[in-house]
Amino acid sequence: MSREGADSDVDADANPDPDLLRDAREAVVEYAPALADLTPARTGNLSVREGERVAVTPTGVPYDSFDAADVPVVSLDGGRLAGRMAPSSEVPMHTGIYKHDRPGAIVHTHSPWATTMATLHRKLPPVHYMIAAVGREVPLADYAPYGTEELAANVVAAMAEADSDAAILANHGLVVTGPDVETAVENTRHVEDLCRLYLRASAVGEPHVLSDEQMATVEERFESYGQQPDADGS
Ligand code: 13P
Ligand code: ZN
Repeated sequence: MSREGADSDVDADANPDPDLLRDAREAVVEYAPALADLTPARTGNLSVREGERVAVTPTGVPYDSFDAADVPVVSLDGGRLAGRMAPSSEVPMHTGIYKHDRPGAIVHTHSPWATTMATLHRKLPPVHYMIAAVGREVPLADYAPYGTEELAANVVAAMAEADSDAAILANHGLVVTGPDVETAVENTRHVEDLCRLYLRASAVGEPHVLSDEQMATVEERFESYGQQPDADGS
């Protein structure tokens, strides 16, 4: 895959500046290796937002091959602020999503089952209640070349229209947002598993889809799922 032009808008004055967005860059270093289990080779990327700035994986390098000072920091308009390495070619998609709907983190993969859906131009309907982790469906974003503003616009539009924290990118892969990077990675795994479930079920018959009413009940139950703080808040 050609990566020409991936760093064409690099600010020549960029420097490591290790203190800028230190926590977010350390989170990128900590969670980037999770991509290796989800997506082939060096495909995919992730980012963490802090205010109006974003720490993002460097372009085209293995996910265990960089430290926090290497991690690029960009502004929401895409300008490079710090970091020794050039940022992901998908900065327009990450910043486009952040500008529209300020999540805390974004994960993009070419994970095999979601990408199979992407080649079939299928969205993921609510065939299992766990889809509520990201919404009532995972919509399909129209195809555009990787790294382009057009792809960013298509992804933002698909997520907004479906009110979903995830989108399948036609003939490309998956994007999932979350309030923090741990949740975004976990929800990426959920969506990938649900795509596998859907495709396996589809090989045998037509999967049943949960109704809006059934999904509304799940959403309500999700509000109080898991360990709850004690009444005194501890
Ligand atoms: P980067 O290595 O530039 O992040 O690109 C990988 C990718 O998945 C592009 O869509
Ligand atoms: Zn990609």
